[in-house]
Amino acid sequence: MNMDSTNIKRQQKDYWTLDKQHVIHPYTNFEKFSDEGSVIYAKGKGHHIYDEQGRAYLDGIAGLWCVNIGHGNEEIAETMAKQSQKLAYYNTFEDASSKPMAELGEKLAEISPGALNHVFYGTGGSMGNDTAVKIAHYYFNLLGKPNKKKILSRDLAYHGSTYLAHAITGISSTHMSFDLPHQLVHYLTAPYTYRNQGDRTLEEFIDFLVDEMEEAIIKIGPDNIAMFFAEPIMGAGGVIVPPGDYHKRTHALCKKYDILYVSDEVVTAFGRLGKMVSSKYLFDVEPDMCVYAKGISSGYIPLGATMISDQIHQVISKPKKDNPYFSHGFTYSGHALSCQVGLKNIEILERDNFCGHVSKWGPYFEEELGKLSEYGIVGEVRGSHYMLALEYVQNKETKESFAPEVNIGKRVYHHAKQLGLIIRPIGNLNVLSPPLTYDQKAIDNTINIMRESIERTIKDLI
Ligand code: PLP
Repeated sequence: MNMDSTNIKRQQKDYWTLDKQHVIHPYTNFEKFSDEGSVIYAKGKGHHIYDEQGRAYLDGIAGLWCVNIGHGNEEIAETMAKQSQKLAYYNTFEDASSKPMAELGEKLAEISPGALNHVFYGTGGSMGNDTAVKIAHYYFNLLGKPNKKKILSRDLAYHGSTYLAHAITGISSTHMSFDLPHQLVHYLTAPYTYRNQGDRTLEEFIDFLVDEMEEAIIKIGPDNIAMFFAEPIMGAGGVIVPPGDYHKRTHALCKKYDILYVSDEVVTAFGRLGKMVSSKYLFDVEPDMCVYAKGISSGYIPLGATMISDQIHQVISKPKKDNPYFSHGFTYSGHALSCQVGLKNIEILERDNFCGHVSKWGPYFEEELGKLSEYGIVGEVRGSHYMLALEYVQNKETKESFAPEVNIGKRVYHHAKQLGLIIRPIGNLNVLSPPLTYDQKAIDNTINIMRESIERTIKDLI
């Protein structure tokens, strides 16, 4: 097609149609998409996002748990312009580096817990988790423990969408027809108190989860297990907050059996829970590896980071005669522009005390949203700080879920959107994970819209 005909085509067609004809969206229901297409978003400012027609919405999900400092930040725009004029990109293989890549490495080591002093860069969370697995396998091979390959994960865990990260993801409804390498993964029960506690006390429930993990380790054999993956709070699986000392005890099991503990902090780091890193500072766990993405650059540019401990680094970085190369790397590992944006983003988060702001307003947000559990269809409101969810039920006493065809999360979502708020529907849930700029006014507006949306949904169902 020549340029003239492309221009004519663009003038004749709207973006909604172009998108529908040519784009495959992540996580698409093709049937619905062919009817409805997608909304074209055109602009963002602070915690608002605007569609093509200029309609404003409160962005209750920060893009996708990631625009932590808010949309349209001019300092980031200036940083991008300056760095791309200076050096947007150069490869980082072997002996090439850049100031932003090195400086961000220092900063990430500073904010990361314990001995997590070494970073391998990628462009997102899935890639960061894949890197963690490859490093763990490489590490144990070098230690002469080649059988340590298996990965412990949990039902409902979300770790990404590449072939390997998707296999580690425990949301089985997403696995269908992809033939993922499940033989590498063992899935444990999710610490999902609302659904999995049963008749046990909370203590008994935690004991059950820990015992189940230890039994699995013994059955598979510690010599066959490389690592355990855990999100501090499980995100896409339903904003599941693990009870009590679950994290400390599962971490202790990893130490006992020489299993690497990987904290997937793709959502939970960079302020969403009021801390720069939550595994250590909320759950008192020092991971062997930590994976960051999303809030690391507030979504302004693709960036991910896999942090590894001194101990792992010492092993993998020892010169080897027969295999001198650590043969892992991506064209965009340590992308200069991405790293400079990451640095600026962290500078803004720290300078403007976003963690303090979230620590102050998070409990208010939790409390106000929690009041919505007065509605008959709201089974549970859960989460922490700026990472919250509502789970809807047909029967509050029995916790019976709505049938999938009721599409309860989507129904509330549609009403909220009409009223000017974007939330995320996931099955029987709605998730809220707004930009960390959310203040009392935005929280109050969000609660009012949620209230009205739930009431409208209840009316629809009668
Ligand atoms: N890990 C967690 C906890 C996530 O929530 C996500 C994405 O939502 C990922 C990993 C995957 O990140 P990405 O989509 O950047 O590959």
